[in-house]
Amino acid sequence: MKQVNILGIPFTNMDHITLVQQLQKHIENKEKSFVVTANPEIVMRAHDDSYYMDCLQRASYITADGIGIVKASQLLKAPLPERVTGYDIMMEFLEKANENNYRIYLLGARGETLHRAIKNINIDYPNIEVVGHRNGYFTWNDCSVAEDIKEKKPDIVFVALGVPKQERWIAENFSDFDRGVFICVGGSIDVVAG
Ligand code: UDP
Repeated sequence: MKQVNILGIPFTNMDHITLVQQLQKHIENKEKSFVVTANPEIVMRAHDDSYYMDCLQRASYITADGIGIVKASQLLKAPLPERVTGYDIMMEFLEKANENNYRIYLLGARGETLHRAIKNINIDYPNIEVVGHRNGYFTWNDCSVAEDIKEKKPDIVFVALGVPKQERWIAENFSDFDRGVFICVGGSIDVVAG
């Protein structure tokens, strides 16, 4: 897999369609994977916070969520194909999930927002099974969150806990899981909720 190193962060050289195809292969093979969409805030935070940088280094794929990062890659003569946001990946993946009857789990956002998002997903993507959800306001050491996901074995977990919580949460809990694609999607559950 081609990567481009910018300020110590290994960005994945893939457009969002190819990335989702790659993630589908992980689902078919019952493998696990961890996706970060790194915006400039994330890049700067990682620069100043070595623990957070370490969390990012554990990701399977890191996309460039910022045109400035794409421009920097061009200057380095290793151009990344496009800006890839968590929302882009989530929308493309919901289409594929609907075509393939994937089982999804939503982690994050406020309870009411989360329920509206699930309602909209059930209407717009009738073949998707939302196997579980949990709002994003739990205490950090609450093991029941990871246990619930482990038990329900979703194909995809959309993690919307905001920066830096979402990247930290996946990095700290990833070893507990055998399978599933874990994607940091920031405020995307709020957008899906409308
Ligand atoms: N969020 C959450 N738990 C938290 C903090 C944030 O579930 O402890 C959710 C928030 O409700 C929203 C999403 O994370 O749905 C993104 O939050 P925010 O816009 O603050 O983060 P950013 O996208 O700027 O990282």
